[in-house]
This record gives sequence, C-alpha cells and structure tokens, in this order.
Amino acid sequence: MTTTREVQATNDPSLQSWLDSANDPTTDFPIQNLPYGAFRRSGSGEPLRIGIAIGDQVLDLRLAVQRTDWPADVAAALVPLAAGDLNAFMALGLPARHAVRIALSAALTAGSRQREALAGCLVPQTQAEMALPCRIGDYTDFYISVHHATTIGKQFRPDNPLLPNYKWVPIGYHGRASSIQVSGHAFHRPVGQTRAPDAAVPAVGPSGRLDYELEMGIVIGQANEQGHSVPIERAEDHVFGLTLFNDWSSRDIQGWEYQPLGPFLSKNFASTLSPWVVTLEALAPFRRPFVRPEGDPQPLPYLDSARNREVGALDIELEVWIQTEAMQRAGHAGDLLSTSNLAEAYWSIAQLVAHHTINGCNLNPGDLLGTGTLSGPKPQQAASLMELTSNGKQPVTLSSGEGRAFLEDGDTITLKGYCQRPGQRRIGFGECRGMVIPARTTQRA
Ligand code: MN
Repeated sequence: MTTTREVQATNDPSLQSWLDSANDPTTDFPIQNLPYGAFRRSGSGEPLRIGIAIGDQVLDLRLAVQRTDWPADVAAALVPLAAGDLNAFMALGLPARHAVRIALSAALTAGSRQREALAGCLVPQTQAEMALPCRIGDYTDFYISVHHATTIGKQFRPDNPLLPNYKWVPIGYHGRASSIQVSGHAFHRPVGQTRAPDAAVPAVGPSGRLDYELEMGIVIGQANEQGHSVPIERAEDHVFGLTLFNDWSSRDIQGWEYQPLGPFLSKNFASTLSPWVVTLEALAPFRRPFVRPEGDPQPLPYLDSARNREVGALDIELEVWIQTEAMQRAGHAGDLLSTSNLAEAYWSIAQLVAHHTINGCNLNPGDLLGTGTLSGPKPQQAASLMELTSNGKQPVTLSSGEGRAFLEDGDTITLKGYCQRPGQRRIGFGECRGMVIPARTTQRA
C-alpha cells in the first residue's frame, strides 16, 4: 500500500541517481521526473516498448521486468508496461501508478541494489526511435487562454471579440486523433478551400496562411463510465500526465470554413505530440493557486473546489522555436519566437475533465485533451503566428534576416516546456518538433 508521503518523497530535490546524466542540473529528466514514452532501438524494427526517460537514457521496462525482482504489487502493475501497452497501465489508475513511481525512483537512486541489473536495461536517447506514447482514441481541443480567445476574436469579430459564454464554459470541440504524430515528423502543407477577402468565389489550393499553436496535451488515464460524470474533486485522478502539443492550423482554410460549426479541415491534417508523458506526480511541486481576475464571474459549483482554488494551476514555462530551411543549411539552431506559461490559462486541468464529463461523456485511457493555444497576456507571449504577426500584417524578422508572416515550406517549429523553481529539480518535457514540407499538389481550382 503506497501513501501520499511516499509519492511525495519521489519529488525530493536532494534525490540523486546512480546515473550521472540524471544529476545534471540542466537535464529535462532527473530522477524526480520519470516520464513514460514508447520507443524501439533505432533501426531495429522491433515491437514498441515502454520506457522511462532518465538523464540522457531510456530505461527499457520490458528488460527491467526480466532482469530484476520487484515487490508483488509493482510486478503486477509492470505487466502491461513490459508488454508495451501504456493504455492498459494507465487504465489501472492511481494506486498502480504510484506504486510503480515509488519503485522506479528507489531502483534508480544512488546506492540501489538494482543498479547493476538496470544499468543493462538502458538505451541512449540518441539511439531510441520514439513513437506516440499510447493509442489516442479521441482527441478534444479546448480554448483555455482568454488572451488567445480575445486576440483571435478581435481578428474574426472586431466588435465582439470575446463571446458571452467564454467566462462560464470551457469551450472545446472534438478534434481528430488519426493525424496526430510524434515529435520529429514532417507533414505536407495542407490543400483546401479558401476565399480571399476580395474574391467573389472560393478557390482550392495549398494553404497560404499555415500556423502553429503552442498547446499542452492532457493524457487521460483512468476511464469514467458513460453516464457518470467525474466530480471536480476526483478529476485529476483521471489524468495520467501532460505533454507538449502543436495543433498546426491553416488560418485561410479556417477563416472560410469555421462558421457555424467551428474548425474542421483547417486543423485535422496534422498535430504533433512530444514523446514523453510527464505525470501529475512529477509536477506536484509546481502547483499554484487557481485565481480569477477581479470582477470576473466565479466558476459554477461543478467547476469549483477548494483544492482547485488552492493548487489548481500548474507553473509550466513554454517556448516556441523556429528554424527555417536556410538556418538549417547554415547550421543555425533557430530563433526563440515566444514564451508563455500554462499558469496563465483561464481554466484548470481539473475543470476541463469535470466539464468534459458533466453530460456523462466517457473519457478513455489514452484520450487526449488539448489545452488550446496558450498565449499569455504580453505581446511576446503570443502562442501562434496569427497573434505574433497580427494576422500576417506585421511579419516577424528572424536573426537570419528572413521575415515570417506565416510558415514557409522547410520551417521547423519546436516547442519546449519545463518547470523551474528555487529549491526544486528542473522537470522538463523534452521537445515537440515538426517540419512543414511542400503541398502534394499545386492545383488551383
Ligand atoms: Mn488548437
């Protein structure tokens, strides 16, 4: 039986690993993190395995189960992980996840009796080919940045930027899971129907206003039964962890199609997920009170709880980087385009789960909830080009001298995220990287 105190001990910043790279203060993956991902040894073609990122290595859980012994409750919970099935492990819920976290933390701590056995289960991250961490059944995208909603609203509806439901309802729509890819992929510029402001009729062709959206992905763990809503007090028990998420968007397709049912083909051609799921346990030291700005309505009771008010927000720093094709050729690592923070969001993670299930909708292990574009209040916290360039009217100038109103073919966008606080070990999310390649057709209708 695990206790809250034992789970919290895994966040102790003084914990050191026997693996030196995990003790590097700049690593995303110290022993306090222990995120889950799916991988295979590069070029091996072997079935996917589940691993834990630690320092610059991946701990292969299939081998870890074979090569050392584990307490009985942990051994049972490790069965789906050894089989490469993160969904089945997530479905086990909190007790299994806590038991495994405590056992892995102890096994990777300096002085562990399991060191020798586990040292042979490590794969360098540079030799691991990452895949999506789990099967994503359904994907919902929310809209939880009031700053993004207001700025975008002004561009589509200058007189009426923020619709009257925004401060009461966590707005969302059902996205498409089939086109979500893991970090490191390239995708074709989408082709679609658009109508230029001065044109009488629409045309079909490659999108001219391709954009990124800096978001986070919330991975659902334990399911709720259809017809049974999840009360906000238990909402976070249903969340396995968080990832970085880029919801690529075509603004010209979106502008023409979005009324009255919302985004469709402007969003569902590609999305990118970072490979490592950072659990809520790892993020525990980085909570903040959830507060509403003065004068705004308080959330309705089903979206309110004492715990949500005390610690509902998460302090996660976020970055967007761009590397153009010319930069890549010149060996230039790229430019930082903007920074933001999840704690600026108008709705908390617990509120999203409570809202999503209030009508009895069932969430399943591996379902993904996107936060929506996480823009902050300052102009440099604009989390999409549409905001950063005022809908393309004020292009940004990059250090290479190139300008960008929207994305060009050959551009690579990389999202990064990390938690940092004095007295705590840095917890990172790794990278979420995707590259735009030319449209498959240049047909114009
Ligand atoms: Mn989005």
